[in-house]
Amino acid sequence: MTKIRVFNTLSRSLEVFETWSPGVATVYVCGPTVYDVAHLGHARTYVAFDAVIRFLEFMGYGVKYSRNITDVGHLRETGEDKMIQGAVRLRRHPMEVADKYMMEFFSDMNSLGIRRPDIQPRASMHIPDIIDAVEKLLDKGYAYRVDGSVYFDVSKVPDYGKLSKIRVEEMDVHRVEPDPRKRNPADFALWKESAPDYPLCWRTPWGYGFPGWHIECSVMSMKYLGEQIDIHGGGQDLIFPHHENEIAQSEALTGRKPFVRYWLHTGELTVGGKGMHKSLGNYLTIKEVLKNYSRSVVRAFILSAHYRTPLDYSEKAMEQAHENVSKVRNLLDDLALAEETAVRGNSNPEFRANVDKLMDEFINSMSNDFNTSNALASLYELVRLTNLHINRPDVGLEDLQQASTALRNMCRVLGLMEEEREKTQTQVYELLKILLDVRRELRRRGLYDLGDRIRKELGERGILVEDLKDREKVRIVR
Ligand code: AMP
Ligand code: ZN
Repeated sequence: MTKIRVFNTLSRSLEVFETWSPGVATVYVCGPTVYDVAHLGHARTYVAFDAVIRFLEFMGYGVKYSRNITDVGHLRETGEDKMIQGAVRLRRHPMEVADKYMMEFFSDMNSLGIRRPDIQPRASMHIPDIIDAVEKLLDKGYAYRVDGSVYFDVSKVPDYGKLSKIRVEEMDVHRVEPDPRKRNPADFALWKESAPDYPLCWRTPWGYGFPGWHIECSVMSMKYLGEQIDIHGGGQDLIFPHHENEIAQSEALTGRKPFVRYWLHTGELTVGGKGMHKSLGNYLTIKEVLKNYSRSVVRAFILSAHYRTPLDYSEKAMEQAHENVSKVRNLLDDLALAEETAVRGNSNPEFRANVDKLMDEFINSMSNDFNTSNALASLYELVRLTNLHINRPDVGLEDLQQASTALRNMCRVLGLMEEEREKTQTQVYELLKILLDVRRELRRRGLYDLGDRIRKELGERGILVEDLKDREKVRIVR
């Protein structure tokens, strides 16, 4: 079987993918901070990991996937709390803000066809677990108190900096926590004290306050996926300090190394070559983009680049993705028609061998650090090749079925063309409604035999119609 290789940020090299438990992959991806609507940068990161999950499943892994919701403790570099900023902007309680944007985030993820993770834990619902973890770190001597705040002492971890390659001695600037009482500028907050009436605070043995951002992901990932997991992901901006600190805390808590086997990080999505900022006017929400382009087009655009490389949004790139996706859609339609008339038994061995080769190439590309860019190239080449052969007399039904299966499998792994299926389902329901209306009218006119024929033929196709007093009850059994 093809071996999967992944680029591990920890070793900065490609490694053969092996899971702690054979056949099962545990994956944790840092979720959004829900203080505003999700943007195309979120889409980039979560579509990329969606393709990773889908491919692992395609290769036979059982995947346990968790993506959290950050609704407390995420401070900006300036020290301001993102949730509180959202609350001030909307004049609502921060938990109302979290609820609103969490639901919108879920809906955006659905619109993009991103599979729902198995577990979506919310930080604010894990405060007792977080307090336990902080107490444990205090007991073990990895953390110290400064009044009601608790800091992690990085000098207790000799390999601190191993993920980001940052050297503690070089960290002379206080980053997010400019607390002069810290022992070392690199020390980071596990818990921050607050006034008892601060909108987001909890009572602890050491006073009122709220958790630091990093501890939530250590706690939630260990709670649901175990002390050591296979893949942990997020955008490259999370390598330092978020993931560096997660490693330090988690390994200190459990005494087990490594906390994570493979660290995967996505490159930044930029617009017009610049990071998205509301002030630059280049900020694109997922909803805005989906108004102009279908889900498959957005996904094809995002997956056109390997997940680690930066990706720049432009109308031109979107038009290109649109064109490519249209070709795939047209071919799927053409194949469905051609399969109805194709001759069974005819065969073009060269075509079949080339289809197999492209499927192998697709799997090899995905196995090579989930290279969706190359995988898409194989998919588009399969479209081109099949278009050249679809009407040839020597190409038989089995040949077309083989091409169609390969194409559908590739689409399934990349999550493309799925909205077509949903659309077809809606259309089927609409047709069914028309048929039932006509049947009702036939029965009203006394043409019971025609009405019965409709019911019988639907029944033979697994759609059972039962006549109640004033309406029909419909059940689809297969
Ligand atoms: P946030 O909501 O800012 O906490 O980010 C949630 C996730 O989305 C993190 O993994 C970020 O790295 C990722 N992310 C945010 N902005 C971008 C972007 N412009 N490009 C790629 N990933 C991003
Ligand atoms: Zn995280």
